[in-house]
Amino acid sequence: MKKILIPFLLAVVAIALPSRLSAEKPGHVVFIGLDGWGAYSVPKAEMPTVKALMNNGAWTLKKRAVLPSSSAINWASLFMGLPTEGHGYTDWGSRTPEIPPVEIGPNGMPSTIFTLMKQQRPSEPTAAVYEWDGIAYLVDTLSISHHANVPVGENNDSSPITAAAVDHILKAKPTLMVITYDNPDHVGHAVGHDTTDYYQILTYLDGEIAKVIEATKDAGIYDDTVFIITSDHGGIKTGHGGMTLQEMETPLIIAGPGIVPGELKGSYFQYDVAATMATLLGLTQPQAWTGRPIFPALR
Ligand SMILES: [Zn+2]
Repeated sequence: MKKILIPFLLAVVAIALPSRLSAEKPGHVVFIGLDGWGAYSVPKAEMPTVKALMNNGAWTLKKRAVLPSSSAINWASLFMGLPTEGHGYTDWGSRTPEIPPVEIGPNGMPSTIFTLMKQQRPSEPTAAVYEWDGIAYLVDTLSISHHANVPVGENNDSSPITAAAVDHILKAKPTLMVITYDNPDHVGHAVGHDTTDYYQILTYLDGEIAKVIEATKDAGIYDDTVFIITSDHGGIKTGHGGMTLQEMETPLIIAGPGIVPGELKGSYFQYDVAATMATLLGLTQPQAWTGRPIFPALR
């Protein structure tokens, strides 16, 4: 009985493996987040790099923020696959959850996409660079190979973080890399959303995204990289945190090998991004995650 069963099981495993590690899984995922980038701005914004990714990738301008529509809460959902009630980070600057999380990973906080990488693909290099130091409390830095807080410079200068990201991509070719810019949020608060200044900073950030994409080409990984470009929340007048769709709807663009191009129909939420990254990276997500992989985007 055993003699028959073992070859049979091996055959089953051999059949199952290729689908799990199929060619459609990219070698690299680069996540770029722009803080305070409202979906409302996309039609009017001059963002040639982002729009080229939209033309070649899957996208929606209707991904919803979780409430309240503020930073830490929504970055947590993007990385932790859970809504506010699940991960428990409830304030714009939460560093620890105010509500006990429904799931706690090995490092004493909710599992993030990096926690899953560390557990399931421990030999793969991962990285996170962020302008806002609050991100450090939301990604599970103990699970990341390389992480750095590179603050925004004078006059909203984001070249330091871009340089750090480019340098690291060339050096380490990380399997998963997260880069978060702290604009257009600064301009949104200082001058206002949907203003000339706001659109100017979006065009500027589009140029920074272009440099990151260029770095993947220089590193020889561009053809094997899926880019995810998104944000934590939008804004209205000089604020956010409320329940208007201008604050809650955020862009999501997924582009790269194996991504089905076109506008994504249906409803998507912040926590679906973590689930989608997990699927792209061949990771099993925790039962607690409510995020659903965005299958219409995945071949
Ligand atoms: Zn924010």
